[in-house]
Amino acid sequence: MSLPPGLYIVATPIGNLSDLSPHAAKILSEADLIAVEDSRVTAKLLAHIGVKRPMTPYHDHNADRVRPGLIGQMAEKAVALVSDAGTPLISDPGYKLVRDARAAGVSIHTVAGPCAAIAALTLAGLPTDRFLFLGFLPAKAGARATAIAEIASVRATLILYESGSRLAATLAALGEGLGDRDAAVAREISKKFEETVTGTVAELADRYADAPPKGEIVIVVGPPGEAEAASDTDIDTALREAMTRLSASRAAAEVAETLGLPRRTVYERALALK
Ligand code: SAM
Repeated sequence: MSLPPGLYIVATPIGNLSDLSPHAAKILSEADLIAVEDSRVTAKLLAHIGVKRPMTPYHDHNADRVRPGLIGQMAEKAVALVSDAGTPLISDPGYKLVRDARAAGVSIHTVAGPCAAIAALTLAGLPTDRFLFLGFLPAKAGARATAIAEIASVRATLILYESGSRLAATLAALGEGLGDRDAAVAREISKKFEETVTGTVAELADRYADAPPKGEIVIVVGPPGEAEAASDTDIDTALREAMTRLSASRAAAEVAETLGLPRRTVYERALALK
């Protein structure tokens, strides 16, 4: 039976091909067209489930050019979107395709599945109740330090993607910007050489300084401890910024939520600052 026309976002394995769900396999088998990052990678996945489907490239270098045509086809065809591994749109192309397909009234479906960020979070042994996904930090030291400073007071577990060659430098920058928090490095998840190493950010930076690891990597960093709770200066800085956009009470609510502080205490500071 053929699929109704529309856009189907399909998550694919991040290592072990057996993680492809039966639902994902069915959608890929029945799609009229599969938009792919790299046809060689997706061809291997399709061979694993014994199907051949037409593929068209959709990646960072051609996305703006091919997006309107691809969306045009979704009126009559079932178009699947995959990335090389994991969930499309998560540090991968696809967000603008979904945005524009939605604006064009296309019927949109997602086939949920593997995502390295979530898989690493389940391995790390760090709090999972609040987490912030940062993707890849900027490669240049200055921009990286700024990005880290922006989220230093957020009371949540942080999840980052990184390459082996930059791992030690990024861990060192995280230690500098965040303090020495508990962390984990999850590598090659669901593959032959999978390992998860835990320690403080500084310990992990030391460990990898002279031995850049091979393979694909996710860094998970725990939230600040009580001792590193936001200082009065942090609270005032956040409040001053929020009050340029919001009323004192809404600013206090936002800052209290972000910094994990009682709303009343923050509101009193907001009134004092006004
Ligand atoms: N969309 C993908 C997802 O849902 O995870 C992520 C794509 S991003 C371009 C690729 C990065 O994800 C890698 O550089 C690495 O940081 C992380 N990653 C992907 N597969 C992984 C694995 N098996 N183990 C650890 N990290 C992985």
